[in-house]
Amino acid sequence: MAGKMKAVVKTEPGYGAKLVEVDIPKIGPSQVLIKVTSTSICGTDLHIYAWDKWAESVIKTPQILGHEVAGEVVEIGAQVSKVKLGDFVSAETHIPCGHCYQCETGKQHVCNTMKILGVHVDGVFADYAVIEAVDIWLNDPAITPEFASVQEPLGNAIDTIYAGNVAGKNVLISGAGPIGLLAVGVAKVFGATKIIVSEPNSYRRDIARKMGADAVVDPTQEDLGYVVKHCTGGIGVDFVAEMSGHPVALNQSLKTICTGGSMAMLGFPADKVSIDLTNDVILKEITLIGITGRKMFKTWHIAKRLLKEKRLDLTPAITHQLPLEDFDQGMALMKSGNCAKIILKP
Ligand code: NAD
Ligand code: ZN
Repeated sequence: MAGKMKAVVKTEPGYGAKLVEVDIPKIGPSQVLIKVTSTSICGTDLHIYAWDKWAESVIKTPQILGHEVAGEVVEIGAQVSKVKLGDFVSAETHIPCGHCYQCETGKQHVCNTMKILGVHVDGVFADYAVIEAVDIWLNDPAITPEFASVQEPLGNAIDTIYAGNVAGKNVLISGAGPIGLLAVGVAKVFGATKIIVSEPNSYRRDIARKMGADAVVDPTQEDLGYVVKHCTGGIGVDFVAEMSGHPVALNQSLKTICTGGSMAMLGFPADKVSIDLTNDVILKEITLIGITGRKMFKTWHIAKRLLKEKRLDLTPAITHQLPLEDFDQGMALMKSGNCAKIILKP
């Protein structure tokens, strides 16, 4: 498709991004062009926007930001048979190579040479975006574009909570950022008995309650261990979803788990973390599980079912909807922490 489009671009190394007019991208034989109807901001976009050390080491400018998306198929590469024109789609953001050991053993979401949409290739904060056919996900028309674009982080939440096999269990969600808040709703619908949420930000604690938390804790003001004991009849939680990446939170959370319990970790600590392996893991027979991304596409099927059947309402966790032009405002909100998912619409 010939023509111009608007896009949020990191034009050069350094802070910020610019809304610029660029050519509508051309697709290759294994790709699909979509007209973007809804996108949402991820913490990764803020890292790139703010140009931290990680962004500096990974991003090659010019780079279109954004990877959480919903849109309509407008052009299809010659080798693609998965979708047709007009289909309502979203995208997995991990781009697998298809032929490494991980890819060949059913783990393409952790491909050895994985690329990421909006990080290694141009992203979706634009009128149009190119998606590899392997990553295209066909949405159900009953799902709103806003919920559809949030499915990617919802997938992080689903994969993490799924790892806890939470039905009937008491659960701690450590860190109620946008993904932790989605995880509260997921834990509820997966049948957790009691959901305790630990989060220093009061704005986010309020949303956690709306998403279904039974108890919320400010770990900087209250004794998390005491609250968990109180809520669980002195036993401790069966499972922790660690979604803060904060080393103190990680250590405090480990101590709240009952003997034989488990913890799935999604949050990325910025540095190496020291933990008391002997007392907090080995002697307690704790299972530690690392989570990266989402399963392709088991997790997406679960997200689709939950949203299509309206078993999971994401409304409280979508706090802002802005036109794409107002991306600076969206990034400022992300930086403040007084938000959950922010939708940007081209
Ligand atoms: P976020 O940084 O917005 O959320 C983290 C939350 O933890 C914040 O609300 C913060 O206030 C809270 N927090 C800080 N200190 C705390 C403490 N001591 N106890 C409890 N909570 C505390 O991030 P997000 O977008 O919700 O993502 C969650 C984490 O998952 C981040 O670390 C992110 O980098 C990571 N992540 C990992 C993957 C993966 O594939 N493993 C994918 C996406 C995001
Ligand atoms: Zn691979």
